[in-house]
Amino acid sequence: MTDPYLPELTSFALSEDEAAIVIEALKTSKPWDWKPVDSLKKAALKSAKDKILAFHLQRHEHNCCYCRTGLMGSGPFMTDREHVLPKGKASFRAFSFAIWNLGVACKRCNMQFKGSGTGFIVDKDDPASFQASGNYLFIHPNFDRWADHLTRFDGGMNEKKVVFFSNPTNSAKGEYTKAFFALGQLARNSFARGQGQNTPEQFSRAAALVEELAIVLGQPVP
Ligand SMILES: [Zn+2]
Repeated sequence: MTDPYLPELTSFALSEDEAAIVIEALKTSKPWDWKPVDSLKKAALKSAKDKILAFHLQRHEHNCCYCRTGLMGSGPFMTDREHVLPKGKASFRAFSFAIWNLGVACKRCNMQFKGSGTGFIVDKDDPASFQASGNYLFIHPNFDRWADHLTRFDGGMNEKKVVFFSNPTNSAKGEYTKAFFALGQLARNSFARGQGQNTPEQFSRAAALVEELAIVLGQPVP
């Protein structure tokens, strides 16, 4: 598999102390959320998690791995460590610290849409398929290059930022990702904000603008 991002997954390494505490965490019932009492262990675990976060932020140029919202400077309240195979499911617990199963997502994608569901996984039972792009219906943060499936436009309307997503290659993963994370709604809401108020009239005008943009780009209306 060619890694679509840099630094490559294979270049990730924890220090001896970090690796040891991860192994210990994996023996607990909630590896990622385990809180060791010992202060040295606590520090080593934090260090491992910080290293994982920095690594994935670098791979995705500080953007959400699902919607590409910029996370630079947005702080810990906007940025979630993302477990693709959910860490809360017993069958996926062993992958709580697997670098290929982790990413960085915005709060909207993670909390509102991703949650702990597993509907986007094709085969939930065969670990041999877990590291294959084809086993995921949406754009995987590590096995798929986001830009191969979707294009995100960021612009300004009056004083507000607006965003629009297109799927120029008619990618099935792109369509699934747009629907799963409601990216069409994200676009329409941004256009509504750009128009000032959130009245029904503003929303319908926003929808019309998004439609116009989709037609210009030769894309289906989101
Ligand atoms: Zn997002």
